[in-house]
Amino acid sequence: MTNLRIPGPTPLPPSVLAAMQEPMIPHRGPEAKELFAELRAALARLHRTTGDVLIFPGSGTGALEASIVNLFSAGDRVLAIVGGAFGERYAKIARAFGLDVVELPVEWGRAADPAAVRAALAAHPGVRGVLLTHNETSTGVTNDLQAIAAAAREHDALLLCDAVSSAGALPLEMDAWGVDVVLSGTQKAWMCPPGAAIIALGERAWDAHARAALPRFFWDFTQARDAARAGSVHVTPPLTTLYALRAALRDIEAEGLEHVWARHAALGEYVRGRVAGLGLTLFADPAHASNSVTTAVVPEGIEAKALLDHLRERYDVVIAGGQGKLAGRIIRIGHLGYVHEPELAAALDALGAALGDLGYAVPAGARQAAAAR
Ligand code: PLP
Repeated sequence: MTNLRIPGPTPLPPSVLAAMQEPMIPHRGPEAKELFAELRAALARLHRTTGDVLIFPGSGTGALEASIVNLFSAGDRVLAIVGGAFGERYAKIARAFGLDVVELPVEWGRAADPAAVRAALAAHPGVRGVLLTHNETSTGVTNDLQAIAAAAREHDALLLCDAVSSAGALPLEMDAWGVDVVLSGTQKAWMCPPGAAIIALGERAWDAHARAALPRFFWDFTQARDAARAGSVHVTPPLTTLYALRAALRDIEAEGLEHVWARHAALGEYVRGRVAGLGLTLFADPAHASNSVTTAVVPEGIEAKALLDHLRERYDVVIAGGQGKLAGRIIRIGHLGYVHEPELAAALDALGAALGDLGYAVPAGARQAAAAR
């Protein structure tokens, strides 16, 4: 089977694959009610919040758009922290809906400096929301969500967190850190197929929602919450993805959330060590390197596409290339969700072998370690 090491969609555990065989049920019947109640309660625990968690059919981008149309009015000012392709996307969505977007550019590969966020908030009064990509999947950087949420609060702005590649993998304490909105999709660390957008909302977000005037229908949080509180849904849900999610959340809670975070931290360290052992330059600032995706610079003389194609065709290992302005310059290895060291070891051995096949001089130590396995 293909060793899938992209940062989402991620491999599915056996329990999730089995759950996806379950037959359809009436989505407004009693079994569905139980399913939604279990999911909402588990997701609240896993976001570390007492607030509401809404589930929509959709992807991460849908969740980002939902947060904009539900919490703002045209002309509202937001601060978008842009340090990669997904930060850019969030800013673009806000602009598409007529918000007054102040951008805080961050060098790709580096984390946003909370002091710079504070300074930007002071320089641009009236910011109603800060848009932050917790884990920038395009650069392999994890931002300091807790410190940036504190800065947003000091300026009475909401903190909207794109947690698409962090929720369920990296520490995220929604209530304790004062994060108002947490957005994710099922296909990453939640170990599920694509299909559902997960949106957790705190009280301040609901207050903003009550004032927000942008048009919305499908994504309307009030409709979704009213239906959810009645044990129902306002549109037909992606039932198979939700069966999968129930199984995945049970697995995550059986492992223990903190254990899951620790596993990701250990795997992040492992992958960075192995990548550096191949003589590659890690792309992300080591102080903020992500534990869900590792990025490395494509070495001189190697063409990124040729490397990725060869790795797939010869070794059946799939990793990702760079996005946006990093296309052709970096490779990205996903290690989030249902992931353990042996699959990563095999993928990294193959990466070393593929680099060697293309004429790159793999350090002798790395070759011996791979051969000994
Ligand atoms: N935000 C981040 C950080 C992501 O990694 C992704 C997808 O990789 C998205 C948003 C977009 O999510 P989707 O592709 O599910 O719409």
